[in-house]
Amino acid sequence: MQLFEQTAAFSEVGAGLQLGPNATRILQAWGLGAALDGVAAFPERIVARSSTSGRELACLPQQALQRYGAPYATLHRRDLHAILLQAVQTQAAAQLHLGSAVDRFEESVQAVQLQLMDGRQAQGDALIGADGLWSRVREQALADGRAQPTGHLAYRTLIARADLPAALRAHEVSVWLGVRQHVVAYPVRGGQWLNLVVIVQGAASQELPGWDDVGAAADVRQALANCCSTLQALAEAAPSWGRWSLYDRAPLSSAAQMAGGRIALLGDAAHPMRPFLAQGAAMAIEDATELGAALAMQRAGQVDITAALAHYAQQRWQRAARVQARARRNGQIFHLAGPLRLARNIALQLAGSRLMDLPWLYGHGR
Ligand SMILES: Cc1cc2nc3c(=O)[nH]c(=O)nc-3n(C[C@H](O)[C@H](O)[C@H](O)COP(=O)(O)OP(=O)(O)OC[C@H]3O[C@@H](n4cnc5c(N)ncnc54)[C@H](O)[C@@H]3O)c2cc1C
Repeated sequence: MQLFEQTAAFSEVGAGLQLGPNATRILQAWGLGAALDGVAAFPERIVARSSTSGRELACLPQQALQRYGAPYATLHRRDLHAILLQAVQTQAAAQLHLGSAVDRFEESVQAVQLQLMDGRQAQGDALIGADGLWSRVREQALADGRAQPTGHLAYRTLIARADLPAALRAHEVSVWLGVRQHVVAYPVRGGQWLNLVVIVQGAASQELPGWDDVGAAADVRQALANCCSTLQALAEAAPSWGRWSLYDRAPLSSAAQMAGGRIALLGDAAHPMRPFLAQGAAMAIEDATELGAALAMQRAGQVDITAALAHYAQQRWQRAARVQARARRNGQIFHLAGPLRLARNIALQLAGSRLMDLPWLYGHGR
């Protein structure tokens, strides 16, 4: 297996990630459970609060291990990346080519020919486009245009937890729900750091392709102007902010879009999603394990490569579409204003833990 990655050298990779038990179960099955335990935090509860009053609206005590057989983890992307990279590097069958940006592919009846940006070529039995939101493979395979800005900006930071007052050091995932904005905080790096994300709707129309620090702290201050003092104190403790424009796509409408012939898509290339369900990376991990199972069938001689990829897509496309749709809906619910906001808060107070626990999502693949 050959892996072509455009980055010449991996460096700092983003901020934090939550991984539900649907994803941590797979990491455990890949033999990476101990490595995960070494770097992740395992919050005791998920709490929803009003961002204006700070009042607790609902709480889901973390019982993922008991209910779903795997933990709910929060970790730094760099740590997850390092774990996965090390696992790849110990596989003799996997060859990683850094500094190898893919330009195009040519598919024939017998093989796929890959054209790299620097003129090099490679050939294989199949091509998996796991090249993210701006996938070149998708562009060529589906020609369905670029991902679209959702109208949200995400501001992200990491704060040393030792620098925070004890009241802000709780071992939990906190979600503060505001009007057209929400804030998420959770521990990473074994609990040493707090990952803080502020997501603001309709804040700016500019398309920011990645991290951008200019003016971000002032934007956050303005976005949180009507929020409770706890939230403002938390934001003020941030040493710096990264700013990120969010993009997504409509869900795929058939398995044939996820895989056709010798070409398949995986992760954000297939189903980029809004971060309001914290499941984008988890879906890429679920895709990977399903693809592995399909390719094992091909290696065992049960199916040919095109049938294996078609089987993979059949197993995955509806699940990912459902998660994408739920993430979009969550975004609307999180940012409600007026009477609907009141109704949401009452519903959370009455049935919060039932609304926040999602067996169809977290119990998948058990
Ligand atoms: C604010 C925010 C918060 C989020 N929080 C969570 C969360 O809590 N939990 C969660 O599960 N998900 C979360 N996500 C989503 C998650 O980050 C993505 O879904 C995930 O990174 C997708 O993984 P991927 O491997 O498909 O794509 P990527 O992570 O984008 O990786 C694609 C790779 O392909 C490479 N590449 C791209 N083009 C080429 C090319 N032409 N040739 C060669 N290589 C190429 C890139 O360099 C990169 O290494 C969040 C996203 C955002 C924006």
